[in-house]
Amino acid sequence: MTTATIVEKQPEDVLEPLIYDISVPGRLGVNLPELDVPEADLPDDLLRDDLKLPEVSELQVVRHFLKLSQLNYSIDKGFYPLGSCTMKYNPKLNEDMARLPGFAFQHPLADEAGSQGALALMYQLQNWLAEISGFDGVSLTPAAGAQGEFAGILMIRNYHLDRGDTERTKILVPNSAHGTNPATVTMAGYSVIELPSDDRGDVDLDALRKVCKEQGPQIAGMMITVPSTLGLFDAHILEVIEIVHAAGGLMYMDGANMNALMGQVKPGELGFDVMHYNLHKTFSTPHGGGGPGSGPVGVNEKLKPFLPGPIVDIVEESTEEDEAPLYGFVMPEKSIGRMKAFHGNFGMHVRAYAYIRVYGGEGLRDVSRHAVLNANYIRAHLMDTYKVPYPRYCGHEFVMEGHLEGADDIHALDISKRLMDYGYHPPTNYFPLIVPEALLIEPTETETKEVLDEFIDAMKKIAEEARTNPDLLHNAPHTAPVKRLDEVKAAKDLVLCCAPALPDGGAL
Ligand SMILES: *Cc1c(COP(=O)(O)O)cnc(C)c1O
Repeated sequence: MTTATIVEKQPEDVLEPLIYDISVPGRLGVNLPELDVPEADLPDDLLRDDLKLPEVSELQVVRHFLKLSQLNYSIDKGFYPLGSCTMKYNPKLNEDMARLPGFAFQHPLADEAGSQGALALMYQLQNWLAEISGFDGVSLTPAAGAQGEFAGILMIRNYHLDRGDTERTKILVPNSAHGTNPATVTMAGYSVIELPSDDRGDVDLDALRKVCKEQGPQIAGMMITVPSTLGLFDAHILEVIEIVHAAGGLMYMDGANMNALMGQVKPGELGFDVMHYNLHKTFSTPHGGGGPGSGPVGVNEKLKPFLPGPIVDIVEESTEEDEAPLYGFVMPEKSIGRMKAFHGNFGMHVRAYAYIRVYGGEGLRDVSRHAVLNANYIRAHLMDTYKVPYPRYCGHEFVMEGHLEGADDIHALDISKRLMDYGYHPPTNYFPLIVPEALLIEPTETETKEVLDEFIDAMKKIAEEARTNPDLLHNAPHTAPVKRLDEVKAAKDLVLCCAPALPDGGAL
């Protein structure tokens, strides 16, 4: 938990009053039921006078929080081309399924015999994910993409140690990788060898060969994001895998970008040893706002014994043809252990299961084809207006430069802020790091052609405005609930709780 900070006054351009400001002594928002136990006094030392609660009616509460929720931007409200995050529409059917009482009220300590439906769902999801990516085993337990990465690198580590290979202390990471990749490597106790990209945005094969030749016995493996954060599918991926394998390293694929690949290529068949999935990206479970994610890991036979547990397996085959087998939780033989309490974020498993089941194999193939088509459509239409540093077919996203000739003092950030006035969530800014003024645009497959066309128009108008009226961009956003923020301060000095200042200046 982040410590709550008390602010005396909210920033002046926030439109909503604090709920404390509308509080009137004696006003009630709830009807408490009749007491059905004897009345007793609360111990004095549990009651603190300084812990005031707002006194408001139910309608005031409803309006207050509904208005606050409307200050937020979400995929349900509009186009959200936030590169690398796959902000696709979250079908409401998935929500209905996750709310079925048998799933929603399933207790994590319920015994296996009474949880066969939930276990069957997890078993099926493991198998579908394995099939989609060509792996031999899947564990659903990691709670996010980054935790899946951590699990994957720990498996690689334990694999080497298990063979008595203790000299491998380094992991290769291309400079087009997602930021979590080098962070994971470091957290797992390895050091990072950063690899340069060639002028097409692919891994520089000569640099890779050189480092494998010089440091081969120390290399535990390589982590590579496919398609890369440039939105590009590495044209030499098979050679990359071969070179690293020949040096004795294992290959980790960051599979957060699987939205480009479903039904097109299976990472397991390319030769990758381990990969994580982001259910909250590719498989449409909701994300943002720090909500629960899910980052299952898939592995080939080599790493299967090391999977984090528990995983679901059939513990007793059925004897009758129309009878279900008995499912149970098992810990793989050399498991790296648990990634979190219980069995992963089960609600996310239900949503991803529903998503895969509704689409089916052909449907998922179309998801990826349309995600790639939509990204290329925008790229092709904006290439004459903005600089696209890697002008080749992209995957599910592409990167362009937020810098325009004839508008020298306009930056990617100004373009993003101005996009908010047009009603869009901005793309990802200043990432990947290897492109100056980067704007990473990922439309996803769930948008219509009309939405893409309107967005393209807005981007072209903004380029025009940048030259004719640059201050319009410098001062944007003009229509958002708050003006341009000091982003560093907003991130580092987060105010999570608004409450009146206490007389002694203390905190709640
Ligand atoms: C989102 C993302 C991650 C991290 O996933 P989280 O669920 O946010 O931890 C890792 N790699 C890539 C390429 C991503 O896009």
